[in-house]
Amino acid sequence: MADGVQNELLMSTTLIDELAEVAKDSAFTHGILMRLGKSPNSSEEVTYAPITLFPTPVPRALFLQGIAVQTHYNTLMNKISQDPDFLEEVLASTISVDDFTARLFEIHRQVLKKGRLQSIGLGLNRSDYMWEQENGHASLKQIEINTFAASFGGLASRTPNVHRHILQVAGQLEDSQRIIDNKPALGQAKAVAKAWELYGSKGAVVMFVVADKQFNILDQRVIENELWKGNIATIRKRFEDVSESGCLDGDKRLFVDHQEVAVVYFRHGEMPHHYKSEKAWDARLMMECSLAVKCPDISTHLAGTKKVQQVLSQPGVLERFFPDQPQVVEQVRATFTGLYSLDMGAEGDKAVAMALATPDRFVLKPEREGGGNNIYGQEICEVLGKVKNSAARMAYILMDKIQPESTPNYLLRMGKPLKMSNCVSELGFFGTYVRHGKVMLINDCVGYLMRTKSSGNSEGSVDSGMAGLDSVLLF
Ligand code: ADP
Ligand code: MG
Repeated sequence: MADGVQNELLMSTTLIDELAEVAKDSAFTHGILMRLGKSPNSSEEVTYAPITLFPTPVPRALFLQGIAVQTHYNTLMNKISQDPDFLEEVLASTISVDDFTARLFEIHRQVLKKGRLQSIGLGLNRSDYMWEQENGHASLKQIEINTFAASFGGLASRTPNVHRHILQVAGQLEDSQRIIDNKPALGQAKAVAKAWELYGSKGAVVMFVVADKQFNILDQRVIENELWKGNIATIRKRFEDVSESGCLDGDKRLFVDHQEVAVVYFRHGEMPHHYKSEKAWDARLMMECSLAVKCPDISTHLAGTKKVQQVLSQPGVLERFFPDQPQVVEQVRATFTGLYSLDMGAEGDKAVAMALATPDRFVLKPEREGGGNNIYGQEICEVLGKVKNSAARMAYILMDKIQPESTPNYLLRMGKPLKMSNCVSELGFFGTYVRHGKVMLINDCVGYLMRTKSSGNSEGSVDSGMAGLDSVLLF
C-alpha cells in the first residue's frame, strides 16, 4: 500500500502475526476454502485457500480499462467461435505439430460436418492481465484469455470480506472502504440460468464436468448454490460417468444418468491428461454433438488458444471482427503486449533469433492450459535450440515478458512460514455472455480475480499454492 502508515504496518511482526491469524479465521468464516491435496474428494478436512494478508492497490483507470474492454473480449470470443474459416487458417500450423490441439480441432470439424444443432451460446471466460508502465502511465497487458474452465469466481466473491476486515482490525478504515466489491459467481450463475431457461425444459439439469480429484470443489459450489437458489438442479459428472451413463435420444438431447442435460459446464478437460482413455474423448464428442448448451462449445474452446491470441495481435486481424469500430479495435489492441509467431518462414526465424539473443525479455508458451507449462530465461535457449529448424517450433508462441512493479505483501498458505515478499499481481476480469442465434442477450463483465505471487515465481497459480487470492484496493 502506498502510504507511510501501511509501511509501518508491514514491518511490525507482532501485529502481522496477529493479523495473519485473524485473516485465516476470516477466510474460514467467509468460506474461502479448499480441500486438502491428500484428500481431494472429502470435505471432512479443508483449509483456507492461499490468500494475501493485504489487498493490493490498483489504479482506478486500470480497473476501469479492464471492465470496459471485457465486453469487447466477450464479443470477440463469440465471433471467433462462429468463424470456422478463421479458426482453420489460424490453427493449421499448431495442429500440424500439436496432437492435443489437433484432437480438439477434429471434434470441431466433426461438429461442423454434422451441423451445429444448438443456437444458444454460453460463454464464461476470464481475461487475465498484468500491468506495466507505458509512456508514463500504467496500462493493462493481457496474459491470456481463458474460455475454458475459468475458475475462482466462487472464492473471489468472498475475498473482499477478508481484506476489508483485516484493514479494519489494522485501523485502516479509510482504505478498507476502497476495496472493490466482487460478485463474479452470481453473474456467472445468472448467465448459466439464462442459457438453461432458453433451452426450455423445466426438468433438465446443469451438468458440471469435473475432475477425479476435486480439491477446488468449494469454488464451484458457490455457482452451483446460486443455481439451486433459482430452482435449477445441478449435477457433477466426470468424463467416465458421461461415458458410462450418457446417451443422446433421437432429437440429440443429452441424457446422463437418465437426467436430461440443458447445459454442460466444463470445469475439466483443458489438459491432455484429462482424457484418460478413448472413452473420455468419445464422451466429449457426444456432448459436443448434443443439443445441450456447452460452456464452452468446442469452437469457443479453440478461440481461447494461445495461437489465436498471437494471431489477433497481427495488423488488420481485429478489424475482421470489429469492422467499422476503430475505437473498439484500439481499446482491445491497447491490452496486447508483443506476441510473435514461430511458424516456419522469415517472420518465425526472426522471432527465434530475437528470443535466443535476449531470452529474459520473453516467455515461450506451448499450446497448453493450466499453469506450469511456460518456458523462461535460459530454458528458452535450450528448447528453441532443439526445435528452431523444425516444424516442432510451431507448437509454441513467443510473448514479451510483462514486467510488473512489485508491492510488499504476505502470502498466507497452509503450513508455510509467514514472510514478507515482493509480490506481483495478475488481475483477471470475468466475462459472461449468452447468445441466442445471432443476438447477444447477455454481455457482461461480472467481477474480477486478483492473484498475487512472490515476484521470484514465474508462474502463479492459486491451485499450486504459488499465488494467493487478493482483492483490489482502488486508488
Ligand atoms: P496457463 O494457460 O498455463 O494459465 P498463462 O499464459 O496464463 O498460461 O501463464 C501462466 C502464468 O505465467 C501467468 O499466470 C503469469 O503469472 C505468467 N505469465 C504468462 N505470460 C506472461 C508474460 N507475458 N509476462 C509475464 N508473466 C507471464
Ligand atoms: Mg493462465
